[in-house]
Formats: sequence, structure tokens, C-alpha cells
Amino acid sequence: MFFKGYTLRLLVFILILFISFSSIAILSQNGILIGKSVLKNDIMAYRFGNGPRILVIMGGIHGEEVKSVDIVMGLLRSLEQNPSAVPPEMTLYLIPCLNVDAATKSSPSWIYHARYNAHCVDLNRNFKTGNWKPNIVYGDKVTYKGLGGKAPESEPETRAIVAFLKRCQREARDNDLLVLSLHQYVRQHERLGRIFPVKERAGDVATYYAQRYRSYTGYKIDYSFNLYEVTGDLVLWAEEQGIAAMDIEVSHLKRENSLLLNKTSLLRLIEEYGTISSGK
Ligand SMILES: [Zn+2]
Repeated sequence: MFFKGYTLRLLVFILILFISFSSIAILSQNGILIGKSVLKNDIMAYRFGNGPRILVIMGGIHGEEVKSVDIVMGLLRSLEQNPSAVPPEMTLYLIPCLNVDAATKSSPSWIYHARYNAHCVDLNRNFKTGNWKPNIVYGDKVTYKGLGGKAPESEPETRAIVAFLKRCQREARDNDLLVLSLHQYVRQHERLGRIFPVKERAGDVATYYAQRYRSYTGYKIDYSFNLYEVTGDLVLWAEEQGIAAMDIEVSHLKRENSLLLNKTSLLRLIEEYGTISSGK
């Protein structure tokens, strides 16, 4: 035997340590693997700062809404050049894309179901909320069977973001956590961006930052979205967990450079979130 017993044990121990550390999977300078998709693609979060206030900005929960991914990627590149734009009071996590199978076009159903994951589930209808349903409706009022998933959190992408946000909630000081989920109007090309669903409540963190984002972008806030029933969505799930969250529906106006507008506005929001204690 080439190795003595204890040397071998030491090597095995180092190997186990290496494997365990890899499962935490810090893959790049700021990158953290938070889960795998149906097709085993990596779902990544990128961390900036170490402060007690946590802000999570996520794109691509809907696969066809590519502008939401482009905006978070643009923000990531900008902050990698200038990480000091993140104030020391906060930790920022950027998740460029949750629905990675759709975004990488590796899902076999991508052409037909770009919105959904590779199991043909709308991830933003798959959260464990009080109103979750397997069959869902959109604006056309048709019932779409199974798009909510077989069960709440049936999808690996949903489970990944749920586990990640619960961890953020534990780590944040005084529940100081805000989640922004970016979407994009893909069919309504001339619609101004919107922020929703936010309930207008005095002193509410989501309301406060929705109003701030409105002031940067001119987007409208939808305080009472009721065009059709939205079930099992991320923002309602967050609200039920006591996490401040909102959707930002980026416009697709030809006359608006929404990439630049939202990147600049998110940088302003990051600065404000990390330096001002209002909205608490
Ligand atoms: Zn969407």
C-alpha cells in the first residue's frame, strides 16, 4: 500500500471537505449556486456586500421575458466593474434568471412554451400560497391545465428560490429583506411599465420602494390587480412569509430604452436601500 493508513484517511478527509465545499459551490468571485433546474442547469445568485439589509433582484421567472434577464445581467456587469456602488449597510443578491432552461433554450419545448420550465409549468404559479391551484388562468380567461404544477413547489426552480429566500430572511437583520422580481411585457408592446401587485399600506416596505421606483421610472403602481386570478405566485408567497416583495413589469416601448432606464433606476434603488432607513 502506497499510503499509510492515516495519510489515506487525511486524503479522504480533504476530498470530502472539497466535495462539501463544492456543494456550497462558489463558482466564481461572487457566484453562488442556489439550485439546479429540471434539465440540471445551474441557477446562480451573485452576491455583493455583507451588510444586514438584504435586497434580492431576480429576472427570468418567465422564460420568454428576456429583457428582465438582460437588465439583471447588465446590472451584474456594471457592479462587477464598480462594486462600491453597493453601500456597506446592505447585501445585494442578483439572480439573472430563475427559469434557466427556458433562457438557455435547452428545454425541448422552448419554442412552444418559452414562458414555462421544462416540465411545462409556469414557475410564477407554483409557489405554496393559500390560493395555489394546478390549473390556472391568464387574461384570456381560458383554463390552462397543470401549468401551476402537480403540487405547490413541485418544480426544482421554485424550491431553489424558496430555500434561498428563506435563508435570506434568516440572515437579514430585523426582517430587512426586499425582493424584486422583474418581468417584461411581451405581448403589449406599447404598454408603460408597471409595478405590482402591491397593496397600498402606510409604512409598508414594498409600498415605499414601489413608490420610489415609480419616481425613478414613471411606471405606474397597480395597487389592486384584479383582471384575473393569480394563484401560487412569488409575491403572494413572499407576503405570506412576511417578506416585502414586488413584481416590476418592464415595458417594451420602442421609444424607451428600458434596459438603460431600469438599470439606472435599480442602481438608484440599491443606493437608497443601503443608505436610508426610511421605508421601515
Ligand atoms: Zn412575467
